[in-house]
Parts: sequence; structure tokens; C-alpha cells
Amino acid sequence: MPEGTALSVPVLLDLDRRHVWHPYGPMPGRQEPLVVESASGVRLKLAGGAGELVDGMSSWWSAVHGYNHPVLNEAVRAQLDRMSHVMFGGLTHEPAVRLVKHLVDITPDGLEHVFLADSGSVSVEVAVKMCLQYWRSLGRPDKRRLLTWRGGYHGDTWHPMSVCDPEGGLHELWTGVLPRQVFADAPPAAYDEAYAAHLWEMIERHAGELAAVIVEPVVQGAGGMRFHSPAYLRVLREACDAHDVLLVFDEIATGFGRTGALFAAGHAQVAPDVMCVGKALTGGYLTLAATLCTARVADGISRGEVPVLAHGPTFMGNPLAAAVACASIELLLGQDWRAEVERLEKGLREGLAPAAGLDGVRDVRVLGAIGVVQLDHEVDMAAATRAAVREGVWLRPFRDLVYTMPPYVTGDDDLARIARAVCAAAREG
Ligand code: PMP
Repeated sequence: MPEGTALSVPVLLDLDRRHVWHPYGPMPGRQEPLVVESASGVRLKLAGGAGELVDGMSSWWSAVHGYNHPVLNEAVRAQLDRMSHVMFGGLTHEPAVRLVKHLVDITPDGLEHVFLADSGSVSVEVAVKMCLQYWRSLGRPDKRRLLTWRGGYHGDTWHPMSVCDPEGGLHELWTGVLPRQVFADAPPAAYDEAYAAHLWEMIERHAGELAAVIVEPVVQGAGGMRFHSPAYLRVLREACDAHDVLLVFDEIATGFGRTGALFAAGHAQVAPDVMCVGKALTGGYLTLAATLCTARVADGISRGEVPVLAHGPTFMGNPLAAAVACASIELLLGQDWRAEVERLEKGLREGLAPAAGLDGVRDVRVLGAIGVVQLDHEVDMAAATRAAVREGVWLRPFRDLVYTMPPYVTGDDDLARIARAVCAAAREG
């Protein structure tokens, strides 16, 4: 392969087919991936003159400010001239410290110790380690299981997989191999007293072996795009307090405004003991996530026989990622992000309403900048994707779902186009 020469699209696709492992690949009967040449604003420019697509996915919840943003570009560039990376063991630096201070300031009260992880899955691993180690330090090594909801998704490394939806999900292969956790039914959309009582009873019954309850607050994302009443978060908080169990919120998908609150926990004014953030943390620019915990958890760990949190990724606190995360948070908070998300919510409600009348559509739901059309059958991914691309939009339908979570900077015309594409994909998928 001649070095420095741009690959033609056919050559690139051939090499991709032969050598590249994509997420959840190789997919049976997979369709050819589209080759992206560049991305700017809300548009992905395809290689080989194949046109542009409006991005309906924010690159899996992350690119909230759109692509090639001048402020975020400049943050990376300025940091690049200072240092791109130094080890975080024994050294510290301003981008990481500034970021941690931002996170402590904007997340729910009481979260004040921050571990900078290098991906969402790792931040959940770290959250689990924090919780198990906390109880070990307190002389309760028997408290080492996790309670979660069915229908959840927390990542693809070992502990996160153990709390993903155990049935029909992505990780069924590992049933019996993964740590055995406790599963409660997925919460109903509306508040239901009987379900809340059931949740309470399960936490009470298993409290002796539970280190923590871990859930995605308000929106269960990749496990099924389900929404539920924030009131369940209060039930969890009270039950966890009453029965000495820690509460972990995985806000990796829901964080930074996506649901209409800065963090989904804010819909219920509930503060967890441990919280994970990622994805939109860097505006989708670089891989970074964080696990925050309270002083109670950090102090508990420090009192243990092994008083350290034994986790230290090579790229922990990466200065480029931390710098762009600071810029992304400042950009978000410096504008009326709530009004933008409300505008998207209104546009998605209007634009997706026609999908409710389609054959094969079970449900249409919108919350914040998230729009979901649920089918009564498994979606034909290739056909649905083709339909969206024909409308000039990038979507990634899966299971029985066609959904969108557009960048917050999506204009009204582009949003209407995204909604039309979701409807077309639901019709043809
Ligand atoms: N938790 C949630 C709620 C997620 O949506 C995801 C990613 N889809 C993860 C954890 C894992 O994050 P990552 O892909 O960055 O490892």
C-alpha cells in the first residue's frame, strides 16, 4: 500500500471488509459501511462524491455541538501545542483539574471525588469497583452483587455486561460466565405504586448481598430506548438509604442535557452515591469518561486494608480530552441549552407524530432531544438505513427501534428532515 496516498473508495472498502472489526461485527449479512470523508456542523460528507447526510445520531449521543466546531477545534489545537499526553500517575495538569472542578460543580450535590476513565464502559467498571471496595473496607465483602433493571445497557466490559439486559440482549453468550446479578423488571413508563413497592421489596430482600443498585436514570438507552417516570429514582434513593445499599446512576447517555435536564437525576432531584458520565463529555471529540463518588464512598475506600482504588489506565486524564471536555462543558453552559433541547423536543414530537399511524408501529415516544419509533417487529436494518439515507439522513436502527438523538445545533429544517427519515425507516424497515 503506497504510503500517504488517499485510498479510493473501492480499495478502502475492500480493506475494511477484509481486516476491520466494526462494533458488534462481523454482522450477519452486514451492509457495506458508508465511507465518511469529513464532518462539519450536523453533516457527514461521504467520500467519492456520494453526497452528505444529516446526522441523526450525534455519533451515539456524543456530538452534541456538531462536528468541526471552531471552539472545540481550538481547544484541542491549543492543548496540542502544550502537551498531548503525560502519564497521570504522580503528575497532574490544569486541563484535568479544571475538568474535575467543572464536573463537581455541575453534577448532583455530594459528588466530589472524580476518577477520569477512558471510556464509558471503564467508568462503569470503576463504579462497580468503588462500590465493592467500599463494602470490603467496611468489613462487608459479602455485599458484592448489583441490582439493576432488565432492559438496561451499561457497556461491553465484564462488570457492565453483567448488568446489561440478560435476555435477548447483546451479551447473552456470557450468561453463566458473568458475575450473577439481581434483576428487577424494567420500570413502567408511568409511575406505578405496585411496581415501586416491588422494587423496594427486592432491595430489602437482597440488601445483605447488595453492594449497589445501578441504573440508567429516566432513559434506558441501548437496551431498548425506554423512558420511565423520574419518581422511581426517589424510590431507589429511599430504599437504598433504608437498606444500606449504594446507588449508582449511569448518565453516560443521558448526561449533558439530552433528556431536558442537565443530568437525568435532576428530573427527580435525586443524588446518587456514584455517577458515570461519558459520551457528550468531550462533545464527542475524544474518548473520555468519568466516575464521580461522594466523600462517604471515597473515605470508606481509604479506610480499607488496601486503601487505594486499584485502577490506573495509561491514558487516564488525557490532556487533549480533558481540554476539549472543559471547552464543551463551557460551550454548553454558556448558551441556553435547555431552550435548544426544548426546541428539538417540540420538533421531534411534531415530526414523528405521523409515524404513530403507520402499520407495524407499536409506539412513538419523545423526551428531550431523543425521538423513538418502536415497531412491532424486528427492524430490517439494511432496508431502514437505506430509507433514511435516501432522505439524506444518517440513522442506526436496531432491534425493533428506529430512533434519533440529533446534535443540539440541528436547525429546524434539518430536524424536520431527520423526522421524515425516521418515519421512512419505520415504514420500510
Ligand atoms: N452506559 C450507557 C448508558 C451507554 O449508553 C454506554 C454506551 N452506549 C455505555 C455505558 C458504554 O460506554 P462506552 O461505549 O463509551 O464504553
